[in-house]
Amino acid sequence: MTNDGVVRILGAGLSGLAAATILAKAGKNVEVHDIREDSGARFDGDFQALENWSMDADFFDQMKAWGFDTSDFKSTEFKVVDIIHPDDTITQAKSPKVAYRIVERGTSNHTIDQGIKRQALAAGAKIHYKSKVSESDCQIIACGPKGTSAVAYGEIFHTNYPNHIAFQLNDKLAPGAYSYLIIIDGVGLICTCLWRKQRKSDRFLNETIAWYDKHYPELNRKPIKRVGGKGDFTINRNYFQDGRYYVGESGGLQDFMWGFGMRMAVWSGVLAAKDILGESNYEAEVRKQLLPYVKTSVANRWLMNRVGDRSFKLMCNRWMKDQRKRGDGLVWIGKLFRPTLVKTLIYQFVNPFMLKKDPKSMGRGVRRMPFRKALKRDDWEPSAEAMAVKEEWKEIRSSGGEVSFSESD
Ligand SMILES: Cc1cc2nc3c(=O)[nH]c(=O)nc-3n(C[C@H](O)[C@H](O)[C@H](O)COP(=O)(O)OP(=O)(O)OC[C@H]3O[C@@H](n4cnc5c(N)ncnc54)[C@H](O)[C@@H]3O)c2cc1C
Repeated sequence: MTNDGVVRILGAGLSGLAAATILAKAGKNVEVHDIREDSGARFDGDFQALENWSMDADFFDQMKAWGFDTSDFKSTEFKVVDIIHPDDTITQAKSPKVAYRIVERGTSNHTIDQGIKRQALAAGAKIHYKSKVSESDCQIIACGPKGTSAVAYGEIFHTNYPNHIAFQLNDKLAPGAYSYLIIIDGVGLICTCLWRKQRKSDRFLNETIAWYDKHYPELNRKPIKRVGGKGDFTINRNYFQDGRYYVGESGGLQDFMWGFGMRMAVWSGVLAAKDILGESNYEAEVRKQLLPYVKTSVANRWLMNRVGDRSFKLMCNRWMKDQRKRGDGLVWIGKLFRPTLVKTLIYQFVNPFMLKKDPKSMGRGVRRMPFRKALKRDDWEPSAEAMAVKEEWKEIRSSGGEVSFSESD
């Protein structure tokens, strides 16, 4: 707390709002400052998956135990997902449990950002938008990514296709990463993630959309807008330093392998608030509860960086084989995310050379996963179908379709 008794939080995203809610509920005087015009404006309209496989606990049970009302924002549960292999085979991963929940990010009423914002305000937190304050005047730093380790681009569209999710491992369309299709109640998102930096990066999204148009011919896609963003993957020397708590992506608390960062964002915000309330020690709890998963994801990312479509195909086959054996597709993916001795050893081995010192971290000892260079195989010419998707978007854009992301964001 500052001398005036106010807890100041930099960033009204998921981690900052989670911390603000807990603190204000406990009677603290909380002020949140966000540089943008509203919570969720960083994303505005894209769907994201709240994963429910990396730990035994259901994430919504965790949120409820922390005092959040998970019915205050729209979420759609899924127990099945299309797994698209690199050779275009489509199989399904299924689970009797909730595998993940799709939430919308943004400024509409039903988004998770606005849901948690309402809870923070109801608890008594004050939120100042379009407010520029210095990091050194705040106790909780929750302002999301600073650097760029990876990017994702997507197109949102109207469709009459039923609710559906597909996850595609394909190193051409999504270099080093994956692409996905999410359809919720007549609105769809096709997104591709790039874990290698590319020239003319829009060709990856156009080619990915063309792929989905071809393999899901009833999509009947009517583009609305294009969205995207960057991910920042760092390991910090300390998570509490000089009287400040670094939470969410500002603390590098992210999934290096695939970027599932929302769960850790909310969780770390809660842990910072609990420390301020004298209930636990942030540094110790982050190291105990979150860092083992982050380190596992560093090891996974290192492995992913070494492979291509042949290994992705093997992964898909193993996943499906494991599902046949256990009758639950969640077990295999859950294991991939969980810490093991082998992953810990890989982390210790790769950490010194895979992560690079951030010279702008003001002596905080931040080490970032650099945005990797493109490989030779990333240099390809777009197909005629992808060129048609590009032209279609050009037209939509000229008649008012928005792009809510530029790489400088
Ligand atoms: C395209 C994309 C898709 C993703 N999909 C998924 C997914 O499916 N599942 C998942 O779990 N994760 C996903 N993620 C990651 C997830 O969105 C982040 O990990 C999560 O939002 C991080 O929360 P945060 O609180 O750290 O940051 P944010 O929620 O981004 O909040 C940061 C806030 O700080 C504000 N801010 C920034 N700079 C300043 C400043 N200088 N001063 C004041 N305020 C500032 C911003 O305006 C913003 O409101 C995705 C990320 C991207 C980019």
